Amino acid sequence: MWPLTSFWSTDVALMQQEAGMTDALNSREQGQTFAPRFDAQGLLTAVVVNSADSTVLMVAFMDEEALEATRNSGFAHFHSRSRGRLWKKGETSGHVLAVDRILVDCDQDTLVLFCNPAGPTCHTGARSCFYRELKGATLHPVTS
Ligand SMILES: [Zn+2]
Repeated sequence: MWPLTSFWSTDVALMQQEAGMTDALNSREQGQTFAPRFDAQGLLTAVVVNSADSTVLMVAFMDEEALEATRNSGFAHFHSRSRGRLWKKGETSGHVLAVDRILVDCDQDTLVLFCNPAGPTCHTGARSCFYRELKGATLHPVTS
């Protein structure tokens, strides 16, 4: 009898904790509630895809403010880590991204934004930031 009580209560506490975590996980993965999971820096990853042809245009980071601005305006906003502030894509170039749809992944820490780009998405002038392909050890222009 001696240690059973303490083992039992510890086990139950752990089981309850685990069940609670499982419920939260299930609801995040299967439910309808949008519960974005920002990382320790308050950011989540956003992959921008061209609505017209499904090519990947860019990857950037959103904090809560950028996500709100995107949802409210219909234009992609990000958090600039280098400038440490809200950044509307195209705010200086005019090459804004009009958001069609937002897909949310299983654990809600990554978004895919289907967008209509108003111009080249990359600051280099390329249509996509992913304009090079690694072949062996060297980079080559993406041709298709
Ligand atoms: Zn780029």
